[in-house]
Amino acid sequence: MVLLEVISLKMGIKGRRALICAGSKGLGRGCAEALAAEGVHLVLNARGHEALESTATAIREAYGVEVSTVAADVTTPSGREAILAGSGDLDILVNNAGGPPPGNWRDWDRDAFIAAFDANAYAAIALMQATVPGMCERGWGRVVNITSVSVKQPIGVLGLSNTARAALTGFVAGIARDVAKQGVAINNLLPGLHATDRTVGLDTYEASLTGESKEAVAARRCAAIPAGRYGTADEFGATCAFICSEHAGFMVGQNILLDGGGFNSTL
Ligand code: NAP
Repeated sequence: MVLLEVISLKMGIKGRRALICAGSKGLGRGCAEALAAEGVHLVLNARGHEALESTATAIREAYGVEVSTVAADVTTPSGREAILAGSGDLDILVNNAGGPPPGNWRDWDRDAFIAAFDANAYAAIALMQATVPGMCERGWGRVVNITSVSVKQPIGVLGLSNTARAALTGFVAGIARDVAKQGVAINNLLPGLHATDRTVGLDTYEASLTGESKEAVAARRCAAIPAGRYGTADEFGATCAFICSEHAGFMVGQNILLDGGGFNSTL
C-alpha cells in the first residue's frame, strides 16, 4: 500500500475520473486496474453485466477508488448515450471494443465493413467528439485508443481490423494536434499478441485452418515473438496509465506499439 501511494504521487493523476470502454476483461481491464492503482476513479463499461460487476467489485476492493458501471454496447448510439449519461465530466477516456471476426477477405460484404468501422473506429470517434471538448475547456485530458499492431503490420485474416483501425488512426492524427494546446493528449496504444480471451479465439481460429491444436498454435506464435511470449494485460495497463499520467502531456498523436518486438524494424 505504501509503495502504491508513492507511485500514485509520481503519476500525478490521483483523483482524476476515467471512462474505460470494454473494460470488464482483457486489455481494457488491465487499463482499468492500472489507472485505479494510481487513484483514478472509474466508469467501467462492457456489455455483460456479471463480469462487469465482478470486475468493478474487485477493483473497488483492491484500490479503494470509486467505480461505477454501465452495461451497454459501446458500438451502438444508444449504448454510447447510456455510457455518457453515466459518466459526468471525464479527465481520461480509454476507447476500446471487441475486435472484428477473422475471416477471408473474399467473403466480407459492405455490412461486415460497416460493423467493423462502427466498432473499431466510429465508437471511439463519437466518444472523443462527446468528451474531448469538455477536457479542452477544463484544460486537461488524456485519451488512449486501444487499436492494434494491425495498423502497422497487416494481419491477413483480420482485414476488417486492418481497415477500420487505419481509419481511426488517421482521425486521431489530425485531432490530436488540434487539441494539444488545450492540455489534452490523445494517443493510440497498439497491442501485439496478448494473453486474453481474444487471443485464445484467434489461436482457435488458426487451429481450425491448420489442423494444429490451439496450444500448438500459441506455442508457435510465441516462438515467433522476440520476447518469446504473449504480453499480459497488466503490462498493457501499466503503459496505458503512464500515457494518461502528468508526465505524458508532450506525447501527442503517437502510436505506441506493445508487441514484444514482433514488428521487425529499425525505427
Ligand atoms: P477480450 O479479452 O476478449 O475482452 C474484450 C472486452 O471488451 C470484454 O470486457 C468484453 O465484455 C468487452 N466488449 C466487447 N465488445 C464490447 C462492446 N461492443 N461494447 C462494450 N464492451 C465490449 O479482448 P482483448 O484482448 O482485451 O482485446 C481488446 C481490443 O484489443 C480488441 O479490439 C482486440 O481486437 C484488440 N487487440 C487485442 C489483441 C490481443 O492480443 N489481445 C491484439 C491486437 C488487438 P463483454 O463481452 O461483456 O461486452
